[in-house]
This record gives sequence, structure tokens and C-alpha cells, in this order.
Amino acid sequence: MNDKSIPYGRQCISKRDIKAVVETLQSDFLTQGPKIPEFEEVFAKYIGAEYAVAVSNGTAALHLSALALKVQPGQKIITTPITFSASANCIRYCGAEIVFADIDPITYLLDINSVQQILSASPKGTYAGIISVEFAGSAINLELLKAIANEYEMWIIEDACHAPGGYFIDCKNNKQLCGNGNFADLSIFSFHPVKHLTTGEGGMITTNNKELYENLIKLRSHGITRNQKIFINDIKWASGNVAEVPATYPGWYMEMQELGYNYRLTDFQSALGISQLKNAEKGLLRRRKIAKKYAKAFKNKQWLQGQSGFVDGHAYHLYIIEVKDRLGLYNYLKSKNIFTQVHYIPIHLMPYYKKEGYKHGDYPNAEKYYSRCLSLPMYSTLKDSEQDFVIEQIKKYYGD
Ligand SMILES: *Cc1c(COP(=O)(O)O)cnc(C)c1O
Repeated sequence: MNDKSIPYGRQCISKRDIKAVVETLQSDFLTQGPKIPEFEEVFAKYIGAEYAVAVSNGTAALHLSALALKVQPGQKIITTPITFSASANCIRYCGAEIVFADIDPITYLLDINSVQQILSASPKGTYAGIISVEFAGSAINLELLKAIANEYEMWIIEDACHAPGGYFIDCKNNKQLCGNGNFADLSIFSFHPVKHLTTGEGGMITTNNKELYENLIKLRSHGITRNQKIFINDIKWASGNVAEVPATYPGWYMEMQELGYNYRLTDFQSALGISQLKNAEKGLLRRRKIAKKYAKAFKNKQWLQGQSGFVDGHAYHLYIIEVKDRLGLYNYLKSKNIFTQVHYIPIHLMPYYKKEGYKHGDYPNAEKYYSRCLSLPMYSTLKDSEQDFVIEQIKKYYGD
């Protein structure tokens, strides 16, 4: 029997992580200091993007992305119903409309054919953008999606919260890392403790677009800029209408140029992020190893429904199986101190979105998937003996 409970996901905090946070707490800056740009630089490098903007959480990253892309009432944006609600909510924050497209029953990702059907049914310009989600850590073919987005003049936000280190193979046989900015306009990550890397709460936006990057920096901090080159009021007025106009703006001067927010990450969280990133590759390899072991253990099991093989390029934030009698298995595992989870309840059937007019039966693949999916324990500190126990108990439940 196992007395320690096994969750579906949890953080990995090292002694080095703790030291890094304590050192920053003892430094001059708790926030708005040097650790933030340092974290942004190392993160951008890891993901292979040109720019990165650290923010207070993944939801803030989505909201700022929508603001930077000028999402507004009257617009329609497409996303998947199988994701965390925040992927869709960011569009509602801006007063625009979310339109769901069904998922592919094999990959569980946004079904590109379904997206195309929605797009071709309306005149060009009806849809402003797509939010694609690398669900569970599986990389969507963004090259393909980008071609469609270009055809319909739409932007792409890539919700890569599950997929730091995930990749797909492009038509030239190159590995394209999730969030690398080659296809999506903006990509977002979360550093919540269940994700690959954590800062407690935290998030990041990556992009290769300089203009969007500069706008995001401004929006993250109230819409305020201290960059003289873009000031709108003149030096004479800013200086207090002095008789002799100085050559530069006074030291105190700054401008709030648009409506922004306080979505900043702190320096001690950034220090934690920098330290966590040093273990990113190791953590990713461990997750892939765990996935391989599950895939092997469950191969050709008759109680399994849908796919469960190992997928190359998958970052394995989650390891999902589709099973018969999911509720029974969930409760049985819980009685053994194994806490599995369901990702996700289809968003279009959340009461909030039902009020917007969505109903049962609208997205059959997503709904069928929901009726049988279960996320098994998957995190880098999961011990072999713990995984063996999980596998053994699942087999035992099905009398296998
Ligand atoms: C975690 C997550 C978010 C939100 O991130 P927070 O940091 O919790 O705000 C958004 N989208 C997906 C797919 C997520 O998994």
C-alpha cells in the first residue's frame, strides 16, 4: 500500500531554486529589478524566440496578447473547447466573441479541417484570429495553421502553457519548438506549479515581432512608458513651461499612453524561473521517459479506448488515457491515494459559455473525449516505484 499521496502533477523545487529566491529577497529589488529582463532573455533563448515578456500569470499573458492584437467587440476568434477556460476567456475580457471548433479525436488538438469548415462558411474577415492550444504538450502543426491564418488574414495566439520543449517537424524537416515565434504572432506560457517550470504564479509571452513586444512591455505596466523617443507631450510642457526649454525631458517624466494593467512578475519569482530553467531539459526528458513507460504498459489493452502510444515532440505536461468506466477507475485510484484528474471539461458546456448559446452535442469529438479521458500522474519527481504502483493499480482495477 502507498501512504504518500500521488497527485497528477506537482512542482520540483531544488536547493538551488531556494538559494536563488533568498538571494533576490536580500537584494535591492523585489520587483522591477534586473532579474526580470534576465529571466526574459534566458527564456527566449531556451524557446528559440527573439523576445520574451514576463508577466504575473498565464492568464495575464493571454489577456495582454489579446490587447496587443487589438481584440475588440464585434470580432470573432476561434479556439478549441478542450483547454483551460483562460484560453477563451481572454477574448471575452476584450468583449469579443469566442467560436469553438471541434477537436481531432486522435491528437485532441484543434481539428484543422473543422477550423477550415468554419472559415469557409463565412466571408473573409469574419474571424480576426485563432487561439491554438498545445494541449497536454502535443505540438500542433503551426506551419499548416499559419498558412490558413494568412489566407484569411488572421493572427495566431499559441497557448503553449503545456508545451515548453515540445516541437513539430516542418515541411523542410526542421524541428519547430513551441513558442519560437516562427508561426504564431504571440505565444504564451504559464509557470503555475503543475506546469513544467514554476515561479509560483507567473507567465511569459514570446514573439519575434518587435512592435508587439514593445507594446506588451508598455501594457504590462499600466500603459506607461519612460522611453523619451516616443513621448507625445512636448519637452517644454513636461518641464513645467520653463522659459528656457531643456534638451531632454526631465528625469521624473513618464507617460501613460494607453490603458494598461499591472501584470508584472516580481524579481524573486524571476530568480526562481531562471533557476528552474536550468533543469528544464532534464525535467522534459524525465516526463518523456514516464510517458514511454505508460505507453508500453498499456499497449493493446482492451479496456483502453482511443490512442495511448508515445508521441515524438510531445512535451508531456499531461499523460492522458481514454478508458471504459472512467468514473470507477478514478474513484478506485483515489481510494489508493492516487489522484488523477480530468482535462478538461469542454468549455462550451461551462454554464457561462452555455449562456452564450452553446449546447450539448455542438462538438461531438470534444464531448466524447470528455466522457472517457483521465490524466495520470505525470511530473518530473514522480518516482519509478510510484509509477509502477499507478500502473499496477490500473491493471488491477480492470482485472488485468
Ligand atoms: C495553466 C494554463 C493557463 C493559465 O495559466 P495561469 O498561469 O494559471 O493563469 C492557460 N492555458 C492553459 C492551456 C493552461 O494550462
